Amino acid sequence: MTKAHLDVPALVRNYVGGHWTDPSGGRAQITNPATGHAISEIGISTPADVAHAVEVAQAAFPAWRATPPVERARPLFRLKHLMEAHFEELAQLITLDHGKTIDDARGEVRRAIENVEVACGIPTLMMGYGLEDGAARGIDEHMIRQPLGVFAAVVPFNFPLMVPFWFWPYAVACGNPYIIKPSEQDPLVLVRIFELIDQCGFPSGVVNMVQGQRDAVDALLDDPRIQGISFVGSSPVAKYIYSRASANGKRVQAQGGAKNALVVMPDAVPLVTPAITNIIGSCFGAAGQRCLAGSILLTVGDAHDKAMDGLLSISRNLKVGDGADPAIDVGPVISGASRDRIFKAIDAGVASGAHLVLDGRHPSVAGPNAGGYFVGPTIFDGVKPDNALAETEIFGPVLSVANVPTLDAAIDWINASPFGNAASLYTGSGKAARDFRFKVVAGNIGINVGVAAAMAFFPFAGMKQSFFGTLHGQGRDAVEFFTDKKVYIERWF
Ligand code: NAD
Repeated sequence: MTKAHLDVPALVRNYVGGHWTDPSGGRAQITNPATGHAISEIGISTPADVAHAVEVAQAAFPAWRATPPVERARPLFRLKHLMEAHFEELAQLITLDHGKTIDDARGEVRRAIENVEVACGIPTLMMGYGLEDGAARGIDEHMIRQPLGVFAAVVPFNFPLMVPFWFWPYAVACGNPYIIKPSEQDPLVLVRIFELIDQCGFPSGVVNMVQGQRDAVDALLDDPRIQGISFVGSSPVAKYIYSRASANGKRVQAQGGAKNALVVMPDAVPLVTPAITNIIGSCFGAAGQRCLAGSILLTVGDAHDKAMDGLLSISRNLKVGDGADPAIDVGPVISGASRDRIFKAIDAGVASGAHLVLDGRHPSVAGPNAGGYFVGPTIFDGVKPDNALAETEIFGPVLSVANVPTLDAAIDWINASPFGNAASLYTGSGKAARDFRFKVVAGNIGINVGVAAAMAFFPFAGMKQSFFGTLHGQGRDAVEFFTDKKVYIERWF
């Protein structure tokens, strides 16, 4: 695929009421993580900038909610076509700003488009139900769904395009104006998306974007005109967002961090190549910066040695470098601070006595990428359940392996974790698969699938500290979150 011409703005700005405006709270640098070089600056919004965006969005609400659902879907159909036409450019922008490999970035663009496609079905998704004589003879009863007003999303760096699409297309299709607060670390792809949104025919003020950091987020959480918040990011921030926004009477869905385990049964080992490449993709794809990434491998009984042989022989040869090069398997992590934090976690793992069998602390990346933020695939074996390697989210290409005697011991290990985002089992046994699905406390279960990612028409969220809220992102749950249900009962004399 040829390289698209990428338009990188000198300053990443707000998009409010159909206009690009300069945030007034200072600037921060945006770097290409594959080189460490600055590529742009981002403006930081003040609470006053956020209040202005909320005011504009609120003003758009009455006319937008009075627009028939079938008409509200039409700009989304246009957006789908524009995203297809700019598919490669969007993927390359993600790779430039986030660092993930170009193939991974293409997958992210596809997942975002699928959410637009599902939200285009809003006339069907948003229907209520009714019952003639539902209340009594001659008295009919109906339930209708109505939008509530302005909603906002605060999103993480690791899927800068896909994650906002778990929410905003549904919110807007349901009749609610929307405000997105991107990650300040990699907002470029959303800038391009808003340039496309600008061409789709949404009335001004219906879809808005404010850049910023904690002050901007707090302004969204505290503004009484905001009806609900969707958050995706680390667990401590998710808990904070959930507490503060719900104390202010808002609807909240707050997705947090993860520590996902992959379990390999002895009967999976004959599947060695597909299972092992799938495990490696889960753990080291996107440099381990997926909320569904495997970061603990639990081998059951004598699965251990065969799994380790396959794992090591392939992982050793993964190519680390600039994700824009299609030959690269593992791109950089998002920032120098992230790389240093991951190196510290590896150092601490070594000091704790865990057995470092593959050391990613010195990846050899030279030339123009010498200053990039690279961490090579790293594997520890013999990790104990109370080791920090097993308990904390590292969010990098670091895999901890432990051998357990039985499937139940693996399930106990998983269920003792404070996180519950995803868990996968590799097996040839339907009974083991059924037990795993029944007993594991996690929102996304994979059977012989290492990244159990829900499609746009299924709900997406974790459990335990990985999710604070009730209704999930995507599909029908999103429609529930973004609408209220009203019952009316009628009698005519
Ligand atoms: P993060 O929590 O640092 O930041 C997420 C968002 O919150 C950003 O927009 C940031 O500006 C804002 N923010 C950060 N600190 C804040 C604070 N103190 N107050 C208010 N706002 C604040 O997360 P990140 O590093 O961008 O993303 C990685 C994390 O996201 C990982 O923990 C990963 O597991 C998680 N994640 C979870 C899911 C999921 O579905 N559960 C999906 C993707 C990522």
